[in-house]
Amino acid sequence: MINVKTIGLIGGMSWESTAAYYRLINEMTAEALGGLHSAKIVVVSIDYHDLERLQATSDWITAGEILARTGEQAQAAGAEMMLICSNTMHKVAHAVVDRISVPLVHIGEATAHCLIANGVTTIGLLGTRYTMCQDFYTGLLEEMGLEVILPESSSINMVNSVIFNELRHGVINDESRENYRKVIESMKQRGAQAVVLGCTEVGLLVNEATSPLPVYNTTRIHAHAAVHRSLADEKNCRLPRL
Ligand code: GLU
Repeated sequence: MINVKTIGLIGGMSWESTAAYYRLINEMTAEALGGLHSAKIVVVSIDYHDLERLQATSDWITAGEILARTGEQAQAAGAEMMLICSNTMHKVAHAVVDRISVPLVHIGEATAHCLIANGVTTIGLLGTRYTMCQDFYTGLLEEMGLEVILPESSSINMVNSVIFNELRHGVINDESRENYRKVIESMKQRGAQAVVLGCTEVGLLVNEATSPLPVYNTTRIHAHAAVHRSLADEKNCRLPRL
């Protein structure tokens, strides 16, 4: 019997990226275990409509309560670790941690570990306005020793609006891809060694082939960290590389 832990996903933020998590976690698990193996996953997906209003009105307490309840549901359904499938909503990660007894796999910490292991010290960050301009995310990366470069202030609205008005609806637009490429190029000119896709939908638009900098896709890194943890007690597996 294979010894695999069940991965809990607090999803729906947006469902486009939760679908990517589900695929990535299964692909990495199949690669590690071979044959017909697939991951054990509990997904509890929220209605994003409610959450967006809470974000827009800065009601992070109610948003944290919704995520905490969702985490409790996932744990009750068998999750042995928890992932919040959104960088932005790690703003209320503490509210989830307070209400679950299984470990939270933190997207920012997993990403920072990966950057540090690869010798990257200065990153460009793309994400929602919340992730780029509040300090819950950049502060964590800086505490872990990374220097964070943001898009020019004149580009912050564009980066944010592509996420909210296009990617969350599954719309992939070539003009937006080109606009993102220019923003990455400008962060490169200002010293960034790599770009962190600090929004779980941005990997739908940007990849190594279209980026002037090496890409650190947080959805992929987060999924990878979860698969490693889920297989930690299993001897007969080849842990997948990122
Ligand atoms: N999925 C996004 C993120 O990683 C943005 C959507 C949201 O949660 O607001 O930040």
